[in-house]
Amino acid sequence: MPMSTSLHDLLPHLSCPECQEPHRLSIESASDARADEWRIALREESRPDHQIVCNSCRRMFPISADGIPILWSRVLEQTFGELDQDVSQVDPTEQDVKAANIHVYDEISDAYDTEGVHADEVTRSRLVNAYREATNSRTGTHVDVGCGAGNVLEFFSAVLDGPKIGMDVSLSGLRAVRRKGYHAVLGDAERLPFAESSLGLVTASSVLHHLYRPDRLIQQAHRALSTGGVFLTDFDPNGRAAQWGWLALQLYALRRPVYQMLSLGRRRVFHGSEQVQTWNAVAEFHNKPGEGFDMGQLQAALVTAGFELHRIFPHNCRDASVNRGPFVKPSPRHLLVQALSGRNPFARHNSDTLLTASVKPASSPVVHRDGRVSESAKQRIRELFAESQPGLQESDASVESPKGTTVRAA
Ligand SMILES: [Zn+2]
Repeated sequence: MPMSTSLHDLLPHLSCPECQEPHRLSIESASDARADEWRIALREESRPDHQIVCNSCRRMFPISADGIPILWSRVLEQTFGELDQDVSQVDPTEQDVKAANIHVYDEISDAYDTEGVHADEVTRSRLVNAYREATNSRTGTHVDVGCGAGNVLEFFSAVLDGPKIGMDVSLSGLRAVRRKGYHAVLGDAERLPFAESSLGLVTASSVLHHLYRPDRLIQQAHRALSTGGVFLTDFDPNGRAAQWGWLALQLYALRRPVYQMLSLGRRRVFHGSEQVQTWNAVAEFHNKPGEGFDMGQLQAALVTAGFELHRIFPHNCRDASVNRGPFVKPSPRHLLVQALSGRNPFARHNSDTLLTASVKPASSPVVHRDGRVSESAKQRIRELFAESQPGLQESDASVESPKGTTVRAA
């Protein structure tokens, strides 16, 4: 079967997720036995007749029958192989979290696209403004991690000149991305299939809080970006605002039946059935009381990974010093929950979610060769923390988020 031109265009931009060596991938025919194994793991109807081989470490990867490269990490490959197993809601493992994300987004990618979740004009201009503030560059390869149906690739189609690649764990999302004319690759956000210093922009909208180890994506993005490249994250829950009061928690306990009953518009996307609700509870720690990112920890993780943190934008306030983009109104849910918790929903430190914009600097004075963070870096982290949250005490930076949600600085 002839491979699509698109894959031959895409291949030079990819690398093996295992060894991450540049320009070592080639395409060849897959054996029948292997093709059958892969078809079952991917739950595909047609066999992946071709495979990608890493000429450096010899790992082999399937190519879907319609030409989507499956550059999974070992743990993601194993997850696909065991997708039929139950996803544990109690203390989920890395594989549980990955499996839940595959299930949810395979299930809802069409609805997610149709309902336009996170595809609105305000979201677009905030991301594009954040990029333009961070750099003057208008060329480079753009990779959108957790691309879903490709909204963020569309946002940047006229902003950045260069290849546009969507990466996700859901094949149905990736097919939607390809229908829109973008490249698509199945991959693990915690082990990117891109070579060192090869990208101009990495975006991860509503992604960090879907990962078992968000700090891995931060480090992987830094590695894959070229000098001056930009890393944007968006829609990650603010841990501080997630500390709900008693009344808000009572309301939360009733939400599932209420959402299912209403089953209207966007709500239906994540609450269409009890099964999707259950998967979604494991897939992300968004919209759950007590879970989210402490702003200081997010900053520390970015800076410690070697990024220059350009800005953190909270999603709820008009303060021009922290929010140059259009005003994102707090959602009714956020207004209600914060009010019930006795907090001002418009205060910066009570923002619902956070957007971060970082640049990979020419050299990184913050990280020593042995990986330790320098004293000046720690000072910078404190300054950044004070800039975005002047109302908070320095000691707040060390407050631990609930178990499993902490961004561990490298
Ligand atoms: Zn390799």
